[in-house]
Amino acid sequence: MVSAGRKAVVVGAGLAGLSAACELDKRGWDVTVLEARDRVGGRTWSRVLSNGASIEMGAEFILPGNTELVKLAAELGIGTLDKGMRYGQREPVGGTRVDGPTLRAAVKKLREALVEAEEAPDSDKPSAAWILAPLDIPQGAKEVIEARTEISAAEVIEQVPAPEMAGLAAIDDSPSPGLAGGNQSLALALAERLGERVHLGEKVEFINWAETGMAVCCESGAIFEGERCVLAIPASVMDQIQFAPGLPEEKAVANRVLPYGHAAKLFVPLLESVPPSSVMNVPERWWCWTQTGADDSVTPVVSCFAGSAPALKRLEVESGPEKWLESLARTRPDLELDPEGAVLSTWDDDPLVKGAYSISPMVSQTAALIEPVGPLRFVGEHTAGEFSGLMEGAVRSGQRADVTAD
Ligand SMILES: Cc1cc2nc3c(=O)[nH]c(=O)nc-3n(C[C@H](O)[C@H](O)[C@H](O)COP(=O)(O)OP(=O)(O)OC[C@H]3O[C@@H](n4cnc5c(N)ncnc54)[C@H](O)[C@@H]3O)c2cc1C
Repeated sequence: MVSAGRKAVVVGAGLAGLSAACELDKRGWDVTVLEARDRVGGRTWSRVLSNGASIEMGAEFILPGNTELVKLAAELGIGTLDKGMRYGQREPVGGTRVDGPTLRAAVKKLREALVEAEEAPDSDKPSAAWILAPLDIPQGAKEVIEARTEISAAEVIEQVPAPEMAGLAAIDDSPSPGLAGGNQSLALALAERLGERVHLGEKVEFINWAETGMAVCCESGAIFEGERCVLAIPASVMDQIQFAPGLPEEKAVANRVLPYGHAAKLFVPLLESVPPSSVMNVPERWWCWTQTGADDSVTPVVSCFAGSAPALKRLEVESGPEKWLESLARTRPDLELDPEGAVLSTWDDDPLVKGAYSISPMVSQTAALIEPVGPLRFVGEHTAGEFSGLMEGAVRSGQRADVTAD
Protein backbone atom coordinates (compact mmCIF):
# COMPACT_ATOMS: atom_id res chain seq x y z
CA MET A 1 0.00 0.00 0.00
CA VAL A 2 1.20 3.51 -0.80
CA SER A 3 0.65 6.44 1.57
CA ALA A 4 -2.83 7.93 1.23
CA GLY A 5 -3.42 10.55 -1.40
CA ARG A 6 -0.59 9.60 -3.78
CA LYS A 7 -1.84 10.31 -7.25
CA ALA A 8 -1.27 8.26 -10.38
CA VAL A 9 -2.27 9.22 -13.91
CA VAL A 10 -2.64 6.51 -16.56
CA VAL A 11 -2.49 7.63 -20.19
CA GLY A 12 -4.50 5.29 -22.46
CA ALA A 13 -7.55 3.16 -21.65
CA GLY A 14 -6.72 0.03 -23.63
CA LEU A 15 -6.30 -3.27 -21.79
CA ALA A 16 -2.82 -2.29 -20.60
CA GLY A 17 -3.86 1.07 -19.17
CA LEU A 18 -7.02 -0.21 -17.53
CA SER A 19 -5.22 -3.23 -16.01
CA ALA A 20 -2.55 -0.89 -14.66
CA ALA A 21 -5.16 1.50 -13.28
CA CYS A 22 -6.95 -1.32 -11.44
CA GLU A 23 -3.65 -2.56 -9.97
CA LEU A 24 -2.78 0.97 -8.82
CA ASP A 25 -6.25 1.36 -7.33
CA LYS A 26 -5.92 -1.94 -5.44
CA ARG A 27 -2.67 -0.75 -3.90
CA GLY A 28 -4.11 2.52 -2.65
CA TRP A 29 -3.11 4.95 -5.38
CA ASP A 30 -5.57 7.72 -6.21
CA VAL A 31 -5.79 6.93 -9.94
CA THR A 32 -7.05 8.85 -12.98
CA VAL A 33 -7.18 7.42 -16.53
CA LEU A 34 -6.97 9.71 -19.57
CA GLU A 35 -8.15 8.34 -22.91
CA ALA A 36 -8.09 10.28 -26.19
CA ARG A 37 -10.92 8.31 -27.82
CA ASP A 38 -14.60 8.49 -26.93
CA ARG A 39 -14.51 4.84 -25.86
CA VAL A 40 -12.33 2.51 -23.80
CA GLY A 41 -10.67 -0.65 -25.15
CA GLY A 42 -8.22 0.76 -27.72
CA ARG A 43 -7.48 -2.09 -30.11
CA THR A 44 -10.25 -4.23 -28.56
CA TRP A 45 -13.41 -2.85 -30.12
CA SER A 46 -16.51 -5.04 -30.38
CA ARG A 47 -19.42 -4.00 -32.58
CA VAL A 48 -22.68 -5.42 -33.88
CA LEU A 49 -23.56 -5.44 -37.60
CA SER A 50 -26.96 -4.32 -38.87
CA ASN A 51 -28.02 -8.00 -39.10
CA GLY A 52 -27.17 -8.56 -35.43
CA ALA A 53 -23.85 -10.38 -35.94
CA SER A 54 -21.11 -9.51 -33.42
CA ILE A 55 -17.72 -8.52 -34.84
CA GLU A 56 -14.29 -7.59 -33.47
CA MET A 57 -12.78 -4.58 -35.23
CA GLY A 58 -9.44 -5.33 -33.56
CA ALA A 59 -8.30 -8.25 -31.40
CA GLU A 60 -10.26 -11.43 -32.04
CA PHE A 61 -8.67 -14.65 -30.74
CA ILE A 62 -7.34 -15.70 -27.35
CA LEU A 63 -4.29 -17.78 -28.17
CA PRO A 64 -3.09 -20.88 -26.27
CA GLY A 65 -1.29 -19.97 -23.05
CA ASN A 66 -2.96 -16.57 -22.78
CA THR A 67 -3.89 -17.25 -19.19
CA GLU A 68 -3.79 -13.84 -17.47
CA LEU A 69 -6.37 -12.35 -19.81
CA VAL A 70 -8.75 -15.23 -19.16
CA LYS A 71 -8.10 -15.08 -15.40
CA LEU A 72 -8.76 -11.34 -15.18
CA ALA A 73 -11.90 -11.69 -17.29
CA ALA A 74 -13.14 -14.52 -15.05
CA GLU A 75 -12.63 -12.33 -11.95
CA LEU A 76 -15.00 -9.84 -13.57
CA GLY A 77 -17.56 -12.50 -14.44
CA ILE A 78 -16.64 -12.71 -18.14
CA GLY A 79 -16.22 -16.15 -19.67
CA THR A 80 -14.88 -17.31 -23.00
CA LEU A 81 -16.69 -18.48 -26.09
CA ASP A 82 -15.23 -20.91 -28.59
CA LYS A 83 -15.77 -19.75 -32.17
CA GLY A 84 -16.02 -23.26 -33.53
CA MET A 85 -13.42 -22.84 -36.27
CA ARG A 86 -9.67 -23.15 -35.74
CA TYR A 87 -7.40 -20.07 -35.87
CA GLY A 88 -4.42 -22.32 -36.63
CA GLN A 89 -6.06 -24.37 -39.40
CA ARG A 90 -6.95 -22.62 -42.65
CA GLU A 91 -7.88 -24.32 -45.89
CA PRO A 92 -5.44 -22.93 -48.47
CA VAL A 93 -6.82 -21.44 -51.70
CA GLY A 94 -4.60 -20.32 -54.60
CA GLY A 95 -0.88 -20.93 -55.04
CA THR A 96 0.73 -24.35 -55.48
CA ARG A 97 -1.61 -27.11 -54.32
CA VAL A 98 -0.74 -29.04 -51.17
CA ASP A 99 -2.78 -31.74 -49.44
CA GLY A 100 -3.37 -32.01 -45.68
CA PRO A 101 -0.92 -34.84 -44.87
CA THR A 102 1.89 -33.15 -46.86
CA LEU A 103 1.30 -29.87 -45.06
CA ARG A 104 1.26 -31.59 -41.66
CA ALA A 105 4.57 -33.34 -42.43
CA ALA A 106 6.09 -30.02 -43.50
CA VAL A 107 4.88 -28.30 -40.32
CA LYS A 108 6.54 -31.09 -38.28
CA LYS A 109 9.85 -30.38 -40.03
CA LEU A 110 9.39 -26.67 -39.44
CA ARG A 111 8.85 -27.25 -35.70
CA GLU A 112 12.12 -29.20 -35.50
CA ALA A 113 13.98 -26.36 -37.21
CA LEU A 114 12.36 -23.86 -34.85
CA VAL A 115 13.52 -25.73 -31.74
CA GLU A 116 17.11 -25.27 -32.91
CA ALA A 117 16.46 -21.58 -33.62
CA GLU A 118 15.01 -21.07 -30.14
CA GLU A 119 18.34 -21.99 -28.61
CA ALA A 120 20.13 -19.23 -30.50
CA PRO A 121 21.10 -16.13 -28.46
CA ASP A 122 18.65 -13.26 -28.74
CA SER A 123 20.90 -11.14 -30.92
CA ASP A 124 21.25 -14.02 -33.42
CA LYS A 125 17.56 -14.89 -33.63
CA PRO A 126 16.93 -15.70 -37.28
CA SER A 127 14.03 -14.37 -39.29
CA ALA A 128 11.15 -16.62 -40.31
CA ALA A 129 12.38 -16.36 -43.93
CA TRP A 130 15.85 -17.54 -42.92
CA ILE A 131 14.39 -20.70 -41.34
CA LEU A 132 11.84 -21.41 -44.06
CA ALA A 133 13.91 -20.86 -47.23
CA PRO A 134 16.34 -23.81 -46.84
CA LEU A 135 13.72 -26.17 -45.35
CA ASP A 136 13.37 -29.30 -47.47
CA ILE A 137 9.57 -29.32 -47.88
CA PRO A 138 7.28 -29.20 -50.93
CA GLN A 139 6.71 -25.80 -52.57
CA GLY A 140 2.97 -25.80 -51.81
CA ALA A 141 3.64 -26.26 -48.07
CA LYS A 142 6.26 -23.52 -48.14
CA GLU A 143 3.80 -21.10 -49.70
CA VAL A 144 1.14 -21.91 -47.10
CA ILE A 145 3.54 -21.46 -44.17
CA GLU A 146 4.84 -18.21 -45.64
CA ALA A 147 1.32 -16.86 -46.14
CA ARG A 148 0.26 -17.94 -42.65
CA THR A 149 3.30 -16.21 -41.14
CA GLU A 150 2.94 -12.95 -43.05
CA ILE A 151 -0.78 -12.71 -42.39
CA SER A 152 -0.63 -13.26 -38.63
CA ALA A 153 2.56 -11.31 -37.98
CA ALA A 154 1.13 -8.61 -40.30
CA GLU A 155 4.55 -8.17 -41.85
CA VAL A 156 6.62 -9.57 -44.71
CA ILE A 157 8.40 -12.79 -43.73
CA GLU A 158 11.93 -11.32 -43.92
CA GLN A 159 11.02 -8.99 -41.01
CA VAL A 160 9.27 -11.60 -38.83
CA PRO A 161 11.33 -13.25 -36.07
CA ALA A 162 11.36 -17.04 -36.51
CA PRO A 163 9.69 -17.86 -33.13
CA GLU A 164 6.46 -16.28 -34.38
CA MET A 165 6.02 -19.34 -36.61
CA ALA A 166 5.54 -21.37 -33.42
CA GLY A 167 3.55 -18.59 -31.72
CA LEU A 168 0.89 -16.39 -33.27
CA ALA A 169 1.46 -17.95 -36.71
CA ALA A 170 1.46 -21.60 -35.55
CA ILE A 171 -0.38 -24.12 -37.69
CA ASP A 172 -2.21 -26.31 -35.18
CA ASP A 173 -5.59 -27.44 -33.87
CA SER A 174 -5.82 -25.32 -30.71
CA PRO A 175 -9.27 -24.01 -29.79
CA SER A 176 -10.01 -20.45 -30.86
CA PRO A 177 -12.01 -18.60 -28.21
CA GLY A 178 -12.81 -14.96 -27.65
CA LEU A 179 -14.38 -13.32 -24.61
CA ALA A 180 -18.11 -13.84 -24.24
CA GLY A 181 -19.87 -10.59 -25.08
CA GLY A 182 -16.87 -9.48 -27.18
CA ASN A 183 -13.26 -8.77 -26.28
CA GLN A 184 -14.02 -5.14 -25.47
CA SER A 185 -16.22 -6.36 -22.60
CA LEU A 186 -13.09 -6.74 -20.46
CA ALA A 187 -12.08 -3.11 -20.98
CA LEU A 188 -15.65 -2.00 -20.30
CA ALA A 189 -15.78 -4.01 -17.06
CA LEU A 190 -12.42 -2.65 -15.86
CA ALA A 191 -13.54 0.89 -16.71
CA GLU A 192 -16.78 0.34 -14.81
CA ARG A 193 -14.75 -0.61 -11.75
CA LEU A 194 -12.88 2.69 -12.02
CA GLY A 195 -16.05 4.73 -12.68
CA GLU A 196 -15.66 8.48 -13.06
CA ARG A 197 -11.91 8.24 -12.75
CA VAL A 198 -11.80 7.28 -16.45
CA HIS A 199 -11.89 10.45 -18.56
CA LEU A 200 -12.72 9.97 -22.25
CA GLY A 201 -11.84 12.49 -24.97
CA GLU A 202 -8.70 13.61 -23.12
CA LYS A 203 -5.72 13.46 -25.46
CA VAL A 204 -2.45 13.92 -23.60
CA GLU A 205 -0.06 16.30 -25.36
CA PHE A 206 2.56 17.31 -22.85
CA ILE A 207 4.11 15.84 -19.71
CA ASN A 208 6.27 17.94 -17.46
CA TRP A 209 8.13 15.71 -15.03
CA ALA A 210 10.76 15.66 -12.30
CA GLU A 211 12.00 12.79 -10.10
CA THR A 212 9.24 13.45 -7.55
CA GLY A 213 6.23 13.83 -9.81
CA MET A 214 4.67 15.16 -12.97
CA ALA A 215 1.97 17.28 -14.57
CA VAL A 216 0.06 15.71 -17.46
CA CYS A 217 -1.44 18.23 -19.87
CA CYS A 218 -4.28 17.45 -22.30
CA GLU A 219 -5.31 19.00 -25.60
CA SER A 220 -8.46 20.20 -23.81
CA GLY A 221 -6.36 22.32 -21.45
CA ALA A 222 -6.99 20.03 -18.47
CA ILE A 223 -3.95 19.33 -16.27
CA PHE A 224 -3.56 16.33 -13.95
CA GLU A 225 -0.77 16.24 -11.39
CA GLY A 226 0.63 13.29 -9.48
CA GLU A 227 3.55 11.21 -8.33
CA ARG A 228 3.26 8.41 -10.94
CA CYS A 229 2.38 8.47 -14.63
CA VAL A 230 1.81 5.24 -16.54
CA LEU A 231 2.17 5.60 -20.31
CA ALA A 232 -0.13 2.91 -21.73
CA ILE A 233 -0.08 4.04 -25.34
CA PRO A 234 1.55 2.35 -28.36
CA ALA A 235 5.26 3.09 -28.89
CA SER A 236 4.26 4.18 -32.41
CA VAL A 237 2.51 7.28 -31.06
CA MET A 238 4.74 8.11 -28.09
CA ASP A 239 6.30 10.95 -30.11
CA GLN A 240 2.92 12.70 -30.15
CA ILE A 241 3.50 13.52 -26.49
CA GLN A 242 6.08 16.16 -25.68
CA PHE A 243 8.10 15.42 -22.55
CA ALA A 244 9.95 18.04 -20.52
CA PRO A 245 12.67 17.17 -19.85
CA GLY A 246 12.84 14.97 -22.96
CA LEU A 247 12.89 11.19 -22.58
CA PRO A 248 16.39 9.67 -22.38
CA GLU A 249 17.82 8.98 -25.83
CA GLU A 250 17.77 5.18 -25.36
CA LYS A 251 14.05 5.25 -24.52
CA ALA A 252 13.17 7.61 -27.37
CA VAL A 253 15.08 5.44 -29.86
CA ALA A 254 13.53 2.21 -28.54
CA ASN A 255 10.05 3.65 -29.13
CA ARG A 256 10.93 5.13 -32.50
CA VAL A 257 12.51 2.03 -34.07
CA LEU A 258 10.02 -0.57 -32.84
CA PRO A 259 8.35 -2.01 -35.95
CA TYR A 260 4.58 -2.38 -36.13
CA GLY A 261 2.73 -4.79 -38.41
CA HIS A 262 -0.02 -3.71 -40.80
CA ALA A 263 -3.43 -5.38 -40.75
CA ALA A 264 -7.00 -4.76 -41.78
CA LYS A 265 -10.27 -6.62 -41.32
CA LEU A 266 -13.41 -6.88 -43.39
CA PHE A 267 -16.79 -8.10 -42.16
CA VAL A 268 -19.56 -9.01 -44.54
CA PRO A 269 -23.05 -10.00 -43.38
CA LEU A 270 -24.30 -13.31 -44.76
CA LEU A 271 -27.76 -13.74 -46.23
CA GLU A 272 -27.57 -17.34 -45.11
CA SER A 273 -25.52 -18.53 -42.11
CA VAL A 274 -23.01 -21.32 -42.70
CA PRO A 275 -21.18 -23.61 -40.25
CA PRO A 276 -17.73 -22.65 -38.90
CA SER A 277 -15.09 -22.60 -41.63
CA SER A 278 -11.65 -21.13 -42.20
CA VAL A 279 -10.09 -20.39 -45.60
CA MET A 280 -6.79 -18.66 -46.46
CA ASN A 281 -6.14 -16.90 -49.75
CA VAL A 282 -2.46 -17.84 -50.03
CA PRO A 283 -1.17 -15.47 -52.76
CA GLU A 284 -3.19 -12.48 -51.54
CA ARG A 285 -2.24 -12.90 -47.88
CA TRP A 286 -5.62 -12.82 -46.21
CA TRP A 287 -7.90 -15.35 -44.58
CA CYS A 288 -11.53 -15.50 -43.61
CA TRP A 289 -13.72 -17.48 -41.29
CA THR A 290 -17.28 -18.15 -40.30
CA GLN A 291 -17.97 -19.02 -36.71
CA THR A 292 -20.37 -19.86 -33.94
CA GLY A 293 -21.49 -17.38 -31.31
CA ALA A 294 -23.49 -17.64 -28.09
CA ASP A 295 -25.36 -20.95 -27.63
CA ASP A 296 -23.16 -22.42 -30.40
CA SER A 297 -25.46 -20.84 -32.98
CA VAL A 298 -23.85 -19.91 -36.31
CA THR A 299 -23.14 -16.19 -36.71
CA PRO A 300 -24.38 -14.60 -39.97
CA VAL A 301 -21.10 -12.94 -40.93
CA VAL A 302 -17.84 -13.77 -42.67
CA SER A 303 -14.82 -12.11 -41.03
CA CYS A 304 -11.62 -11.50 -43.01
CA PHE A 305 -8.14 -10.50 -41.88
CA ALA A 306 -5.31 -9.33 -44.15
CA GLY A 307 -1.75 -8.96 -42.89
CA SER A 308 1.37 -7.14 -44.16
CA ALA A 309 1.65 -3.81 -45.99
CA PRO A 310 1.85 -5.38 -49.49
CA ALA A 311 -1.37 -7.31 -48.80
CA LEU A 312 -3.25 -4.16 -47.76
CA LYS A 313 -1.92 -2.38 -50.85
CA ARG A 314 -3.02 -5.21 -53.16
CA LEU A 315 -6.50 -5.17 -51.62
CA GLU A 316 -6.59 -1.35 -51.92
CA VAL A 317 -8.04 -1.04 -48.41
CA GLU A 318 -7.19 2.66 -48.39
CA SER A 319 -9.90 3.18 -51.03
CA GLY A 320 -12.56 1.07 -49.30
CA PRO A 321 -13.76 -2.53 -49.24
CA GLU A 322 -14.59 -3.00 -52.98
CA LYS A 323 -11.46 -4.81 -54.17
CA TRP A 324 -11.46 -7.09 -51.12
CA LEU A 325 -15.17 -7.82 -51.60
CA GLU A 326 -14.46 -8.94 -55.18
CA SER A 327 -11.66 -11.19 -54.01
CA LEU A 328 -13.84 -12.60 -51.21
CA ALA A 329 -16.62 -13.46 -53.67
CA ARG A 330 -14.05 -15.33 -55.82
CA THR A 331 -12.42 -17.08 -52.84
CA ARG A 332 -15.69 -18.07 -51.11
CA PRO A 333 -18.26 -18.76 -53.85
CA ASP A 334 -20.06 -20.90 -51.24
CA LEU A 335 -21.15 -17.79 -49.26
CA GLU A 336 -24.21 -15.62 -49.88
CA LEU A 337 -22.73 -12.21 -49.19
CA ASP A 338 -24.58 -8.99 -48.40
CA PRO A 339 -21.91 -6.49 -49.55
CA GLU A 340 -24.10 -3.49 -48.76
CA GLY A 341 -23.62 -4.16 -45.06
CA ALA A 342 -19.83 -4.66 -45.25
CA VAL A 343 -17.66 -3.02 -42.58
CA LEU A 344 -13.93 -2.41 -43.12
CA SER A 345 -11.58 -1.98 -40.16
CA THR A 346 -8.20 -0.32 -40.74
CA TRP A 347 -5.55 0.67 -38.20
CA ASP A 348 -2.65 2.15 -40.18
CA ASP A 349 -4.72 5.31 -40.61
CA ASP A 350 -5.74 5.44 -36.94
CA PRO A 351 -3.71 8.35 -35.49
CA LEU A 352 -3.79 6.78 -32.01
CA VAL A 353 -1.87 3.65 -33.06
CA LYS A 354 -0.71 4.03 -36.69
CA GLY A 355 -0.35 0.26 -37.17
CA ALA A 356 -1.76 -3.03 -35.92
CA TYR A 357 0.61 -4.44 -33.27
CA SER A 358 4.29 -4.52 -32.51
CA ILE A 359 6.51 -7.12 -34.09
CA SER A 360 8.05 -9.24 -31.36
CA PRO A 361 10.85 -7.06 -29.96
CA MET A 362 14.13 -8.67 -28.83
CA VAL A 363 14.77 -9.00 -25.09
CA SER A 364 17.20 -6.06 -25.09
CA GLN A 365 14.67 -3.87 -26.89
CA THR A 366 11.94 -4.86 -24.42
CA ALA A 367 14.17 -3.86 -21.51
CA ALA A 368 14.69 -0.40 -23.02
CA LEU A 369 10.96 -0.03 -23.72
CA ILE A 370 10.07 -0.90 -20.10
CA GLU A 371 12.85 0.99 -18.26
CA PRO A 372 11.18 3.50 -15.86
CA VAL A 373 12.08 7.17 -16.19
CA GLY A 374 11.61 9.17 -12.96
CA PRO A 375 7.88 8.94 -12.15
CA LEU A 376 7.06 7.53 -15.62
CA ARG A 377 6.22 3.85 -16.21
CA PHE A 378 5.75 2.26 -19.65
CA VAL A 379 3.23 -0.50 -20.37
CA GLY A 380 1.34 -1.83 -23.40
CA GLU A 381 1.46 -4.95 -25.54
CA HIS A 382 4.76 -3.83 -27.06
CA THR A 383 6.48 -4.10 -23.66
CA ALA A 384 5.31 -7.68 -23.02
CA GLY A 385 8.16 -9.73 -24.50
CA GLU A 386 6.89 -13.13 -25.65
CA PHE A 387 3.28 -11.90 -25.25
CA SER A 388 3.79 -8.76 -27.32
CA GLY A 389 1.24 -8.13 -30.04
CA LEU A 390 -1.52 -9.74 -27.98
CA MET A 391 -4.29 -8.76 -25.56
CA GLU A 392 -2.49 -11.06 -23.13
CA GLY A 393 0.62 -8.89 -23.39
CA ALA A 394 -1.39 -5.75 -22.70
CA VAL A 395 -2.92 -7.24 -19.53
CA ARG A 396 0.38 -8.70 -18.30
CA SER A 397 2.19 -5.41 -18.83
CA GLY A 398 -0.44 -3.50 -16.84
CA GLN A 399 0.01 -5.94 -13.96
CA ARG A 400 3.81 -5.59 -13.90
CA ALA A 401 5.30 -4.93 -10.47
CA ASP A 402 7.12 -1.70 -11.42
CA VAL A 403 3.78 -0.04 -12.25
CA THR A 404 2.65 0.02 -8.63
CA ALA A 405 5.92 -0.29 -6.69
CA ASP A 406 7.09 2.70 -4.64
C1 LIG B 1 -6.58 -5.85 -36.51
C2 LIG B 1 -6.05 -6.36 -35.20
C3 LIG B 1 -6.22 -7.70 -34.88
C4 LIG B 1 -5.73 -8.19 -33.67
N1 LIG B 1 -5.94 -9.50 -33.35
C5 LIG B 1 -5.58 -9.95 -32.13
C6 LIG B 1 -5.95 -11.26 -31.72
O1 LIG B 1 -6.60 -12.01 -32.46
N2 LIG B 1 -5.57 -11.65 -30.48
C7 LIG B 1 -4.87 -10.84 -29.61
O2 LIG B 1 -4.58 -11.26 -28.49
N3 LIG B 1 -4.52 -9.59 -30.00
C8 LIG B 1 -4.85 -9.14 -31.22
N4 LIG B 1 -4.56 -7.86 -31.59
C9 LIG B 1 -3.68 -7.05 -30.72
C10 LIG B 1 -4.40 -6.46 -29.48
O3 LIG B 1 -5.53 -5.76 -29.91
C11 LIG B 1 -3.43 -5.53 -28.77
O4 LIG B 1 -2.22 -6.20 -28.48
C12 LIG B 1 -3.97 -4.98 -27.45
O5 LIG B 1 -5.34 -4.71 -27.49
C13 LIG B 1 -3.18 -3.71 -27.13
O6 LIG B 1 -3.60 -3.14 -25.92
P1 LIG B 1 -2.82 -1.88 -25.35
O7 LIG B 1 -3.56 -1.44 -24.15
O8 LIG B 1 -1.38 -2.17 -25.24
O9 LIG B 1 -2.92 -0.76 -26.49
P2 LIG B 1 -4.26 -0.04 -27.11
O10 LIG B 1 -5.38 -0.98 -27.10
O11 LIG B 1 -3.85 0.56 -28.38
O12 LIG B 1 -4.54 1.08 -26.04
C14 LIG B 1 -3.85 2.32 -26.01
C15 LIG B 1 -4.85 3.43 -25.75
O13 LIG B 1 -4.13 4.66 -25.64
C16 LIG B 1 -4.91 5.67 -26.25
N5 LIG B 1 -4.01 6.81 -26.58
C17 LIG B 1 -3.05 6.84 -27.53
N6 LIG B 1 -2.42 8.05 -27.49
C18 LIG B 1 -3.00 8.76 -26.49
C19 LIG B 1 -2.79 10.06 -25.96
N7 LIG B 1 -1.83 10.89 -26.43
N8 LIG B 1 -3.57 10.49 -24.94
C20 LIG B 1 -4.55 9.68 -24.42
N9 LIG B 1 -4.80 8.43 -24.90
C21 LIG B 1 -4.02 7.97 -25.92
C22 LIG B 1 -5.51 4.99 -27.46
O14 LIG B 1 -6.64 5.66 -27.93
C23 LIG B 1 -5.85 3.60 -26.89
O15 LIG B 1 -7.16 3.54 -26.40
C24 LIG B 1 -5.05 -7.33 -32.77
C25 LIG B 1 -4.90 -5.98 -33.09
C26 LIG B 1 -5.39 -5.50 -34.30
C27 LIG B 1 -5.23 -4.04 -34.62
